[in-house]
Amino acid sequence: MLAPHKFIAFARPPDPVDQHQTSTFRRSRHNPEPLNSSSLMVHYCKACGKPATKLCSACTSKTWYCSSECQRSDWTFHIFDCNPRRPIDSSDYLALAVAQDRFPDDPQTKEDYGFNRALSAENQIVLLELFKGLILHRKVSSRRIHAWRVNGTLADGIKGTFEILPVHARGAYYGWFLQNQWVLDRSLSRPAHPLDAMIKRAWAYSGGSPALSTRPYIMSSIGAWPHTKRSIFLFCGAILSHGRPNPMEENWVTLGFCACHNEESELPLAAIYSEITERCTFEELYTAYDTSSLIALFDAKGLKTLHQQIPYLEDVLAGSPRHNKSVWNLKQVITAKDCRPDVPPLSIDYGFVNCRSPLDTELLKEVYREFFGLPDANPIKLHETAMRGQIFEYVGGLVKIKKKERKTLQRLMRNPYPLNDS
Ligand SMILES: [Zn+2]
Ligand SMILES: [Zn+2]
Repeated sequence: MLAPHKFIAFARPPDPVDQHQTSTFRRSRHNPEPLNSSSLMVHYCKACGKPATKLCSACTSKTWYCSSECQRSDWTFHIFDCNPRRPIDSSDYLALAVAQDRFPDDPQTKEDYGFNRALSAENQIVLLELFKGLILHRKVSSRRIHAWRVNGTLADGIKGTFEILPVHARGAYYGWFLQNQWVLDRSLSRPAHPLDAMIKRAWAYSGGSPALSTRPYIMSSIGAWPHTKRSIFLFCGAILSHGRPNPMEENWVTLGFCACHNEESELPLAAIYSEITERCTFEELYTAYDTSSLIALFDAKGLKTLHQQIPYLEDVLAGSPRHNKSVWNLKQVITAKDCRPDVPPLSIDYGFVNCRSPLDTELLKEVYREFFGLPDANPIKLHETAMRGQIFEYVGGLVKIKKKERKTLQRLMRNPYPLNDS
């Protein structure tokens, strides 16, 4: 399993927190009386929002932190307002893009890290995932990435980082990288393939001008769209090309494929989407998706009997694209190979925060996998019992649990629910 999602850990901490402020902080803890009028002012930590007593001493931006951990975690952002001891370079913009989960917009960064060469939107999305994997999961610092690039060893550095992992833990983006090294390695030439048919189909469907349907143009246009719009655009491209989302993808959850019992039962849902692209415009589809009203759109377009044959679809789509029940992410985690279970609220609701080792995580996943494998598995019921803090009782009543694993599972399946009313 990949490491938990955290901010970037820096090998060398940024400029130190002001020592004077630190000692004032220490004294004031013993003496509740304010030491001077300025300490009457309450400051808040830029990273976590808690009251803060430490000021970044390297700049005049008056940026406060509660701890050096918070200062370090915010450095990806604060470096741009601070006086770092070295020039800001493209790797800093890359780290910022990764932290904000969006494509870099600094031209040099796009050039240095392959976004200019990875012309298609899908390639750019996977490229960003690759850097997210490198920086967030594998904890490679932007300094090191910078050094690799300057030394011409970026591709080798990436390989060295991922190849020490077991194959299944390397992430789908690593497989993509191996096939598309030309994106980062200028000595390799780009394979001469035609404009991506999928993107072009989505572009035509979304009303884009055929005269402007070049990859770079489409890519730059959709790059400026809101995330949900870009996401449904790519989804339409897949559907119009007789494809459907991979369980790895966010769309697999938000467009309801997670409600299907198995891969085969995803086909009728793909057929509904294929039908809807013939019966409504891209804007209608996007608006319905973005406002959690796809079911109403299906009904209005005469697809009611079809969608009603897919149990739980209505529940998923009522929450899409932003408020899906975490049980659907649970299903994604046990279905897709490289999905991480350590992301809240899933990790909290379904006990992955209680896992102390990869073995714990595997055991928990295995039991949930058995649950979802039951022919009459009811995810909504599972979710309701989770919200009452009774996962073990419920799942244990449906799935055979080994005696020696009972205790561990009882501990793992604990969650903070039900919450007090106060
Ligand atoms: Zn803080
Ligand atoms: Zn500063």
